[in-house]
Amino acid sequence: MTGLAPLTDSWGREIRSLRVSVTDRCNFRCRYCMPAEGLPWLPKPELLTFEEIHRLVRLMAEMGVREVRLTGGEPLVRRDLPELVALLAKVPGVDDLSLTTNGVLLDRLAGPLVRAGLRRVNVSLDSLSHTRFAEITRRDALGRVLAGLAEAERHPELRPIKINSVAIRGFSETEVPALAELARRKPYVVRFLEFMPLDADERWDADQVLSGAEIRAIVEERWPLVEIAAGPSSTSRRFRFADGAGEIGFISPVTEPFCSSCDRIRLTADGRLRTCLFSRSEWNLQQSLRSGATDGELREMIRDAVLHKELKHRVNDPGFVRASRSMSQIGG
Ligand code: SAM
Repeated sequence: MTGLAPLTDSWGREIRSLRVSVTDRCNFRCRYCMPAEGLPWLPKPELLTFEEIHRLVRLMAEMGVREVRLTGGEPLVRRDLPELVALLAKVPGVDDLSLTTNGVLLDRLAGPLVRAGLRRVNVSLDSLSHTRFAEITRRDALGRVLAGLAEAERHPELRPIKINSVAIRGFSETEVPALAELARRKPYVVRFLEFMPLDADERWDADQVLSGAEIRAIVEERWPLVEIAAGPSSTSRRFRFADGAGEIGFISPVTEPFCSSCDRIRLTADGRLRTCLFSRSEWNLQQSLRSGATDGELREMIRDAVLHKELKHRVNDPGFVRASRSMSQIGG
């Protein structure tokens, strides 16, 4: 479309997908993500403006990025988010604009977001029990999240609706059947995501990883599953219920890493480009944007970053060193 060479890393992977964090703040305190007291938030002037985000997305789309997902922190706490969605929905080349949210503000914002051009939403939800939900998120907010999902459902433009559920040994085993049953009862694709060493508390331990295979076994005790063929850059293994009642998926970055097909980069809320969730280094695009870099200079910086994209994460290697930021500071 622009004649520019695609963004390709040193291992031959073409970058098609960008996660954009719009804030590091969150209104939940999920135990596997943030401490109860929160984290030192970025000062507001450090956040990229909507115009800055729009410019970077436009440049990346010119180099082949097709999929943009807004995240955080909690993206819906960023004021006027629909304005950013409206800007990004018009970027030529971006054909998949989505949002990852905890859902607590979705009942109010689904309508304005859809009108601005949002077409897909992922809602994080770890339990359908009010007490267990409050235990894991440290917020008594399940009712509002379910209201948010119901509101999303009222907008047929927002499809598919996906639910992401982090699986933690000792917590999730009892939650899995109700979440699987939700995927049967509602038009939601429920996906179980393995716990990763990205918690700010640094308490992660390999023993707490409840694998996708283990969850699948729990589900199949009641409902047999049939695997659905997935696309080449898919991060999840998809299954339908054998009786045809719905779909669930497993994202297993720890026990079944998918780095060889990773086509993703990430932009933090303060404008740092990261080439892997587990990166130890980042590229400061905010500084370049604010010191007058030309489009050509920004493109070169983005290409250079991508050339340094890690071959794979090393979570399972002896001597693994944690990422330089935790999940909510990166943008999950
Ligand atoms: N606040 C939004 C939400 O709840 O979806 C977006 C940001 S949140 C950091 C994105 C996703 O990362 C959520 O599904 C959350 O459950 C997940 N997450 C956070 N910490 C994690 C960890 N240590 N391991 C695996 N997933 C994690």
